[in-house]
Amino acid sequence: MKTDIKKKSDTVIAQTYNRIPIVIEKGNQCTLWDTEGRSYTDFVAGIAVCNLGHSHPEIAKALSRQAEILLHVSNLYYTLPQVELASWLVNNSFADRVFFCNSGAEANEAAIKLARKYFAERDDENRYKIISMEKSFHGRTMAALSATGQDKIKKGFDPVLHGFEFVPFNDIKSLEKKISSSTCAVMLEPLQGEGGVRCPDPGYFEAVKNICNKFGALLIFDEVQTGMGRTGKLFAYEHFGIEPDIMTLAKALGNGLPIGAMLAREDIAQAFGYGTHASTFGGTPIITSASLKVVQTIENEKIVQRCKETGEYFRQKLLWLKDRHEIIEDVRGLGLLLGMKIRAAGGPVVVACMKKGFLINCIQDNILRFIPPLIIKKEEIDALVTCLDEIFPTL
Ligand SMILES: *Cc1c(COP(=O)(O)O)cnc(C)c1O
Repeated sequence: MKTDIKKKSDTVIAQTYNRIPIVIEKGNQCTLWDTEGRSYTDFVAGIAVCNLGHSHPEIAKALSRQAEILLHVSNLYYTLPQVELASWLVNNSFADRVFFCNSGAEANEAAIKLARKYFAERDDENRYKIISMEKSFHGRTMAALSATGQDKIKKGFDPVLHGFEFVPFNDIKSLEKKISSSTCAVMLEPLQGEGGVRCPDPGYFEAVKNICNKFGALLIFDEVQTGMGRTGKLFAYEHFGIEPDIMTLAKALGNGLPIGAMLAREDIAQAFGYGTHASTFGGTPIITSASLKVVQTIENEKIVQRCKETGEYFRQKLLWLKDRHEIIEDVRGLGLLLGMKIRAAGGPVVVACMKKGFLINCIQDNILRFIPPLIIKKEEIDALVTCLDEIFPTL
């Protein structure tokens, strides 16, 4: 059965993903089961998406309840779950308004459009350039791709959009050199996820914010991966004592349901007037009712605090491994967004872990990334650490 599904998939699905050869059928909390009945502890969480784990009963209930009364009516009308979700986000962040869409890339498209529109409204059309970071990742649609600082992701898709410039992450001098009166925004991830779990140096974001203020440019934080508690704060910007002007969210906002959001301060959000931007499915009742349950659960079950504690425990365990294995070069990250750089290809480690019942992820060839549901238990972390401790000497 497994080989049938794999074979069929390999003939009918676009070959954009090189998949791990297991067919996953169901999940509960931090455990997934494949069609052969084997179980796996999930340290990927659908790429930092299922922060509350799989098959959360409250989310399932919210979904089925809403499914029975109303799926969708479009944004031509008001609907309650959308307003409640937006209110929660506004009450819990720097932002005053929310634009809902369906993915991270789409949220970033909205952020880029809003930044340009903001200055166009002020008759400052020459201010259209966006500075983003080398090794950044902002998504695969054309503007998000243009903002992404990785050549391998842009290769073959030229011409990408005009007006995007790049500087190295953590390099204030280069930013100072590049920024000008034609810069409308500086766009960054608070911690580069796809780029290799790369953290900001102390004081970096404060300096970035100062430079933005000096030149009148907006600061856009792409919190698609870092948002919703992943780093041990609800939003990662809270670590750095500054606030962005615009923030994008997606991944964990729906715990697996497709939703993206672009949040902004009132004076900036004003630039999106009637008819300037839209999304058919954005904020539709079926998705926002589930997402509302997600954010309420994060709050009620103190998920952010839990992530902070578990993340610190996990990090200590990874550092313990580093002391024992020469092959480990670096351990880094925040909360439960952790990376381990190794002096070998990461692919074989992913496969070896999978065979022992653990799903982990490898990025940039040699960086193992650990992004489990935020409800992961210490015993589950201990079991993975034992597994890695056994695997490393065999590489
Ligand atoms: C995943 C990710 C995106 C893209 O999100 P999609 O929902 O896949 O479009 C954008 N930015 C960051 C930081 C991400 O991690």
